[in-house]
Amino acid sequence: MPDRIYFDHSATTPLDPRVAFAMNLANIEAHGNPSSLHSEGRQARDLVDRARGQVAALLGAPPAEIVFTASGTEADNLALLGAFRIGSEHAPGHMITTPIEHPAIIETCRFLEQSGVQVTYLPVDEHGLVDPDTLLKAFRPNTRLVSIMAANNVVGTLQPIAELARIAKERGALFQTDAVQSAGKVPLDVNREPVDLVSMSAHKLHGPKGIGALYIRSGVHLHPLVFGGGQEHGLRSATENVAGIVGFGTAAQLAADNMTDEAVRLVQLRYRILAGLQEVLPQAYLIGHPFKRLPGHLCLGFAGQEGESIRLLLSLDEAGVAISSGSACSAHKASEPSYVLLAMGFDPIRARGTLRVTLGRFNTTEEVARFLQILPQAVNSLRPVASYAGFTR
Ligand code: PLP
Repeated sequence: MPDRIYFDHSATTPLDPRVAFAMNLANIEAHGNPSSLHSEGRQARDLVDRARGQVAALLGAPPAEIVFTASGTEADNLALLGAFRIGSEHAPGHMITTPIEHPAIIETCRFLEQSGVQVTYLPVDEHGLVDPDTLLKAFRPNTRLVSIMAANNVVGTLQPIAELARIAKERGALFQTDAVQSAGKVPLDVNREPVDLVSMSAHKLHGPKGIGALYIRSGVHLHPLVFGGGQEHGLRSATENVAGIVGFGTAAQLAADNMTDEAVRLVQLRYRILAGLQEVLPQAYLIGHPFKRLPGHLCLGFAGQEGESIRLLLSLDEAGVAISSGSACSAHKASEPSYVLLAMGFDPIRARGTLRVTLGRFNTTEEVARFLQILPQAVNSLRPVASYAGFTR
């Protein structure tokens, strides 16, 4: 499909050919089990160790503080369930999060609530931002964990993680951040930001699907979810997915090597799309923070046409453009209002009608120019705009 335009990088990213090459090599040349003592095993172990260093470097962390998991979802589960030691004799306690987290956090919180943990969901403003003052006020004597995502997958808003983590630290609670969307795109340095736990996933940064990682600051003790041979410091037993880990390491290194230039390039493309659309579609509006957002992330609404986002998505697909209407994880609930937008104060009608346009490494200015031809045609072919005068969020 050479002429198709892929603008759905928040759902997943295409594998970088350099990552594919490194994975193929690992698959062919390092078939040993990293736990084996012979040369083949040691060769596989060396590859895993090298990749651990590459993923750790993305956060400025020591390699020993990275645990590989099977996904970002599993990293989130390990952080939350592991911190509360569900199933042990520990008293449940309290945690703080937001209502706009990914389901990997929200559903884990639901499970924790059923297990007796009290969960506070902090409000967010109309851009999806958490006010640090509300975090300050939400602490209780038994607050053990704060979990706030670094970047939202639906609207792209970046949270002030350093400030929020500092507050949690001062109150003696652990701070976890789901950095699945932001890792490799915006800097997060564990030496400057006092985060304790950071979830990541390779397939959001041009790495393979089915491999994630949790950064665990030295001294933080988690309870494992998977028991067995004791791999990954006993926190994630299972024979390592060597090729997946090598792919993650290579992807992390490539992202780190070019993070600033790539962010600048994507921001320029994003502004070009927004300006181009607003010139011809006055009903188009940006959702999420105007500039505290992921570099290549646009979440768009079309005032008066909110009920049409699925038709728009399908018509764009037919015209050769892959975008999504919110989060890929909720594609099967596409006609329901987005819980993220509801939490940001959107009414249920407007919360149904968003288009998520997310750019990545291989997108070009030529594709952006083509998209700016295709999208207005697709929007104008929908039912007429009812009225967008006096529109408010
Ligand atoms: N957290 C966020 C913010 C995400 O966007 C996603 C995936 O979309 C996940 C967690 C889950 O990651 P994975 O697909 O690796 O399970």
